[in-house]
Amino acid sequence: MTRLLIDGILREAADGRTYANINPATEKSIGQAPNAGATDVDAAISAARRVFDAQRWSQDHAFRAHCLRQLHQGLVADREHLRRIQIDEAGVPVALTHSIWLDTILDAVSYWADLAETYPYETHIAARATLAGVTSQRMVIREPIGVVAAITPWNFPLPLNIFKVAAALAAGCTVVLKPAPDTPWSGTELGRIIAESTDIPPGVVNVVTGMESSIGQALVADPRVDMITFTGSTEVGKRIMASAANNVTRVCLELGGKSANIVLDDADLPSLAAGIAGVCSHAGQGCALPTRLLLPRNRYDEGLAVAQAAFESVACGDPNDPNVIVGPVMNARQRARILSMIEKGKHEARLLVGGGTPEAMPVGYYVEPTLFCDVDPDADIAQEEIFGPVLVVIPYDNDDHAVEIANNSIYGLSGAVQGGDVDRAMRVARRLRTGTVGINGGVWLAADTPFGGYKQSGSGRELGMDGFAEFLETKSIALPA
Ligand code: NAP
Ligand code: MG
Repeated sequence: MTRLLIDGILREAADGRTYANINPATEKSIGQAPNAGATDVDAAISAARRVFDAQRWSQDHAFRAHCLRQLHQGLVADREHLRRIQIDEAGVPVALTHSIWLDTILDAVSYWADLAETYPYETHIAARATLAGVTSQRMVIREPIGVVAAITPWNFPLPLNIFKVAAALAAGCTVVLKPAPDTPWSGTELGRIIAESTDIPPGVVNVVTGMESSIGQALVADPRVDMITFTGSTEVGKRIMASAANNVTRVCLELGGKSANIVLDDADLPSLAAGIAGVCSHAGQGCALPTRLLLPRNRYDEGLAVAQAAFESVACGDPNDPNVIVGPVMNARQRARILSMIEKGKHEARLLVGGGTPEAMPVGYYVEPTLFCDVDPDADIAQEEIFGPVLVVIPYDNDDHAVEIANNSIYGLSGAVQGGDVDRAMRVARRLRTGTVGINGGVWLAADTPFGGYKQSGSGRELGMDGFAEFLETKSIALPA
């Protein structure tokens, strides 16, 4: 049983309710999580509001840096416990926890510790005539926006909790974190480490977990909340934005994607196999994974052969097996959704690999790595986010056509370009309407690199200086020269 963190106290839900945390690989409960209700959410927001309004936290940059360094150490000290949780509650393959699902994320916390201290919170504009003709000197002050509601999904649970909480704290905000119902412990254990290992004052971070959607809805509708940072589906993002409009609450939204991997005709095809199979990492439950593979028609068969071999050899199974990168999907509902998209795909395109559930894994929410080719760019499987280990291959005629297909999406989260001539690949990358692009295996995911989406993939940025600035308000003060 894990506990909520409310106003510095680790405790059960006010009415004592709990719910089972299910391991998607075994379909069995690994333990209980608090099932918070309206009273708990209200207490969490009240605490966050009170401590923000007292102002010490928001103004003491060095103290916040000190607290974030303690948080980093506390997380590192509990690393193996956190690894177990990622595997057991979210089905993350252990191999992936050695990189962006855990290890490298913990170390990223020091980025925000440093930023808390070094960010230029005050800048000066030299005295000169203003628009009203009065010569004035001006100072621009960046201040934390206030109480932040952080709402996270289950697919990348601990990393997103850490990104949102650490950045908000570094900026001087206070936080109410609401993790996804399927992955409560990635939130409650972060709360426990904050309570037990840091000097972060009571009320600065609050964690509420629950299985009912009413708690998230209450959080985003509350006028005491100054900003919502949300990662999840585009559909829910729209609902949150609409709810936030009532109070003109700032929203930062990281939503879905259907990113394209453009293979130019001068690419070294055999070297792309690992990257292509990487689309199946964590059973394809990654918003920025390039789930559309665009192959040039003049090398189509050669490219398909590489993709097919990569998909046939990708290791799917028990997330505790160190060779596996494809574990189970999150729950039975997700599996049913993915399988129904695959069935649709069988009528829309040619199935090359997979297409069902693996026979070897009768227990657990597994889906076979599935590869479709000859896919029409407008087909449902080429347009809708599937959020499973499914790749669609689309042929194209020339670079212009590839760009047109890549941009033919309501989403604009990420993309990739592969090619022998880097300048040509760069030209293609510049034309993509997406928030990130990786060229020839280059990786943009880093604490200091802004991440986010164009179009319906979101609004605002996470990570980097841009992501940090989302948590700030801007105040301009003028004085006579
Ligand atoms: P989801 O259904 O959108 O839920 C995400 C979070 O929002 C959960 O904590 C959920 O909890 C909460 N929520 C749902 N409705 C809400 C409402 N009306 N008000 C406030 N909170 C609400 O997403 P998911 O199923 O967990 O995750 C999969 C989706 O997330 C995929 O579509 C994926 O593309 C997207 N995603 C995007 C990114 C990114 O960075 N762009 C990263 C990861 C995932 P409740 O259900 O209990 O309300
Ligand atoms: Mg679970």
